[in-house]
Amino acid sequence: MSEVLVQMGTKGADAVLALTRQTLEKAGKDTAVGFPETNYFLPIIYGLFNAEVKTVGDCMPILAAAEGLNKNIKPANGFSIPGALGPVLNKGCATLVAIEMLTALLTATKQHPKGGIGFIPDKILRQLGIQLVDGRIAGVAVILGPAKDADSAEKLVRDFQTNSIVCLLCGSAPASPGASDKAGDSANGKTFAQQLEEKGVQIGLDNYIVPLGDDYLSAIYAVNFAIRAPLIYGGFKPGQWQGIADYVQKRVPAFIVLLSHVDEIIVAAGLGALAFGVPIITDLDVPQLPKIDTTLYEALVTEKDYKKLVSKCLLTRGIKVKVAQINVPVAYAAAFEGERVRKEQLFAEFGGKASASFEFLTSGNIEDIEDGKVEVIGPDIDNMGKGVKSLPLAIMVEVAGRKMQKDFEPILERQIHRFVNYAQGIMHIGQRDMNWIRVSQEAFNKGFRLKHIGVILHAMLHQEYSAIVDKIQVKIYTSQADVDKLLPQAKKVYDQRDERILGMTDESVDSFYSCTLCQSFAPNHVCMISAERLGLCGAYSWLDGKASHEINPTGPNQPVEKGQLLDQKLGQWKNINDYVYEKSNKTIEKMSMYSLMDSPQSSCGCFECIVAVVPEANGVMIVHRDFPGMTPVGMTFTTLAGSVGGGVQTPGFLGIGKLYVASKKFLSAEGGLPRLVWMPKELKEALGDKLKTRCRELGMPGLVDQIADETNVTTAEELVAYLEKVKHPVLNMEPLI
Ligand code: SF4
Ligand code: ZN
Repeated sequence: MSEVLVQMGTKGADAVLALTRQTLEKAGKDTAVGFPETNYFLPIIYGLFNAEVKTVGDCMPILAAAEGLNKNIKPANGFSIPGALGPVLNKGCATLVAIEMLTALLTATKQHPKGGIGFIPDKILRQLGIQLVDGRIAGVAVILGPAKDADSAEKLVRDFQTNSIVCLLCGSAPASPGASDKAGDSANGKTFAQQLEEKGVQIGLDNYIVPLGDDYLSAIYAVNFAIRAPLIYGGFKPGQWQGIADYVQKRVPAFIVLLSHVDEIIVAAGLGALAFGVPIITDLDVPQLPKIDTTLYEALVTEKDYKKLVSKCLLTRGIKVKVAQINVPVAYAAAFEGERVRKEQLFAEFGGKASASFEFLTSGNIEDIEDGKVEVIGPDIDNMGKGVKSLPLAIMVEVAGRKMQKDFEPILERQIHRFVNYAQGIMHIGQRDMNWIRVSQEAFNKGFRLKHIGVILHAMLHQEYSAIVDKIQVKIYTSQADVDKLLPQAKKVYDQRDERILGMTDESVDSFYSCTLCQSFAPNHVCMISAERLGLCGAYSWLDGKASHEINPTGPNQPVEKGQLLDQKLGQWKNINDYVYEKSNKTIEKMSMYSLMDSPQSSCGCFECIVAVVPEANGVMIVHRDFPGMTPVGMTFTTLAGSVGGGVQTPGFLGIGKLYVASKKFLSAEGGLPRLVWMPKELKEALGDKLKTRCRELGMPGLVDQIADETNVTTAEELVAYLEKVKHPVLNMEPLI
């Protein structure tokens, strides 16, 4: 490593450690430190040292350890980066540890963050997990500093979005010219986020752009985000620093993009990132660093040409991106899925309150379908008439293929939402006859027309479903008469599909489907998906598993024939147990499909909801990821989630997909839905009719209202009183424990 870098890093580390000591001592040992909505305290410190830091007093021994590490003295747990560069990288790690304490103090005393979201809560990490495993997110760019000008910032971020990379932003250029080597005039004092705002770019997690804060310290939020992945998904225990560092190096596809400005502290922190295998790509003239022990490829590289920067980043971190080449006049990528088209930007809309609109996909004979044919029948949006902003709309997709099955129609139809949304400037909400589509003024100006919806569906269905469809044609109708005529036919089929799914039971199928998609993060985790129980992420049903297996026979979804029934009540079969044992790397010997208490399914980390026993009530409660409040077991979702996950079985706790609550097989071994005593109101409402129907089937139509929510009770005590008041059926059930 170049002498310059070592010198800068050494100075930076010394400065940060000194500043941290001074600041902590001034604050006093009783001052609280910490971050919101996490179960991992100060995650870097918790992960590497297994220390639960809550006050400045708790920080002091850790600070001493970091100061030692900076001088290459191993702390008590032996933490030390191996290899020739170990001593230098250790300085970097000491710097990160110190910065984490500083920011935790600043956060607790409300002085941080400014200009960003600051600490990233656990729930966002969980939400992103599934997007990372299914490839919607290919990697994470931590962008430090502003681009050379606003145009370049926009261009850069668009390139990242097109490649499905999430951008975390922090740092700003020094305000006074000449304060750094290369702060271009237009970047002075600005942050990357401000440059994007100037260009009107939509910012937010949905758009893959997250500002962390306007100072360089905020970069720590990217690091303590990465370090929670092995704790949440990887099954690592705090303190297992070797496994944690190795996991981040191998499985967290993150890299740093350092722009416009560098100083000693940035170098010191950068060394810390390198220790975890996170490479740095910069537009600055700095000494280059080839591959080191911890990185996959180059550790530090310069690329001054912004046009080449993104591909250099992907290459350096070894990220492979599948970019869909779709022939439409707007940008097209998963990163545009969450983008909104607001009223002020609106050019045309369909559905919602504006007009009658629906989408429908069906399969037909190979001979009858002309692949790639897209017809718009009726006026297009350049022909709507003066002052008119909406048209009726029917999107009719016909597919054919030798391996196509009727069962796959609803699955393909559901993709219309995603595929249309990926187009920049087009918004799609809902599905079936509840859809709502908006086209922005900008997309229209670029040449987007209704026929492009057909172009997109044709290309994307081929791209993702080529194993089951060979031909696709699309007809788009925009006259009221056509839409009125076609809608009743579509509705009839929607109903038939719903009935077919409702009629499917675990008994009526011979095989369940496995899902091991999450093994890239939770190596021992296996989901078993039955006809009446979907995957815990909520994204995969039995039919999805079947289609996915047809598309990719050696992929993550395999049919597993149930085989010999071992226990009817618990839902255990010989073959299922054998399969889970094998695929969980021999960590899970048996698994019940229907029990919470006896060998329940394991959880990876991306569960929609958690079920937990409430011992006082002889029942169970459920909380979903978006509920921030307290639950009757005295824990929030975030805290509860800390005890479930990493691919382990935790009797009494279970991660589940939302819809499983309304299934006949919901915890049937423990008595089913009548065990449920508490759930957030929002979740109750989201389940709506499905829950009511299930209660009626049970002969307990009043059960929905007997289940408490946060508006009735918050503690276990209040809960018990409430259950007695409403005569909840759980009172007469056999003891749960
Ligand atoms: Fe992960 Fe299970 Fe969802 Fe598959 S079904 S993606 S393993 S959570
Ligand atoms: Zn998962």
